[in-house]
Amino acid sequence: MLKARGTGPMTAIETEELRKRFRGVNAVDGVDLSVPEGAIYGFLGPNGAGKTTTIRLLLGLLRPNRGRIAIFGENLKTKRRRALKSVGVAFETPAHYEHLTGRENLDITRRLLKLEKTEIDRVLDTVELTHVANRLVRKYSLGMRHRLGLARALLGQPKLLIFDEPTNGLDPVGIREMREFIKTLPARTGATVFVSSHHLAEIEQIASHVAVINLGQIVFQGEMTALRGLHAPRLEIAGNDLDAVSLFLSQTELAPTKKDGKLVITLSAAESAEREAAQINRNLVDAGFDIHHLVIAPWRLEELFLQLVGAKPLLASNADRREPEC
Ligand code: ATP
Repeated sequence: MLKARGTGPMTAIETEELRKRFRGVNAVDGVDLSVPEGAIYGFLGPNGAGKTTTIRLLLGLLRPNRGRIAIFGENLKTKRRRALKSVGVAFETPAHYEHLTGRENLDITRRLLKLEKTEIDRVLDTVELTHVANRLVRKYSLGMRHRLGLARALLGQPKLLIFDEPTNGLDPVGIREMREFIKTLPARTGATVFVSSHHLAEIEQIASHVAVINLGQIVFQGEMTALRGLHAPRLEIAGNDLDAVSLFLSQTELAPTKKDGKLVITLSAAESAEREAAQINRNLVDAGFDIHHLVIAPWRLEELFLQLVGAKPLLASNADRREPEC
């Protein structure tokens, strides 16, 4: 059930059974999203998973075949203007007027939104483009163009910011800058941030909440810590005579496997990982083994992702996604 306004804590985005079909293919297939206010919500999935289609549905740029969308409790279908009033958006390849300056580009949107002129200085300052505000956009670097796209999204102080693959095409420095920028947005602006990416490690570094989409369906939704907590961490061990170490550990009911010249043990739970690791360390030293590496290695999101989608392919052909004809 979509939450009515004024009943309990507000969700920034809520969707129910959202579906979008293109020529018999479900690009978005029964998606229920719940984005808490104040979150940085990572929307993760491989190319073609349905991220951009979902975002276009959330923005009312596409009409769903089925399902409902509420933005801060306002039904997008019946209260479209009110629902979208509080949303700022930046697409992966921001389109600007090349022959105009950054300031002039922002001024076009400012006029459309009927905002004060001072709003331009505010957003330029937020994205740190004040020093190039009067430069033609065609002379901007790619990173500056992306930041100008974000500045436009920030005009009017929206309560919800939607960024579609904001780091696409950026170099490593640009990616880091964008990541740091997004990370500080809720604290600086009070906005909820919904950010899509196929870059798992990136989302892991910025998001408080995450949804994983594959083949148009959500395979995980929740707090980032819950995603990490789904799987126990592993202990990596390296030292002299690993075969003997492995045999010793097997006798204590642990099941080490060998990987890249190290032994890997799956610990029982994240909460007890340090205690378990310390005990294993003590046992090995007491038994006289020479250990020079003993590290708790959390699961990487990439590995979790593969586990979540299981045996399903990360991307099927459109024929595989076609609905059976009725
Ligand atoms: P990417 O990261 O590559 O942008 P994505 O997760 O955003 O991928 P979508 O762009 O939403 O994925 O595409 C989901 C599926 O829907 C794909 O199979 C795509 O080919 C299909 N699709 C998207 N838009 C259309 C359209 N306008 N007409 C037909 N099929 C479409």
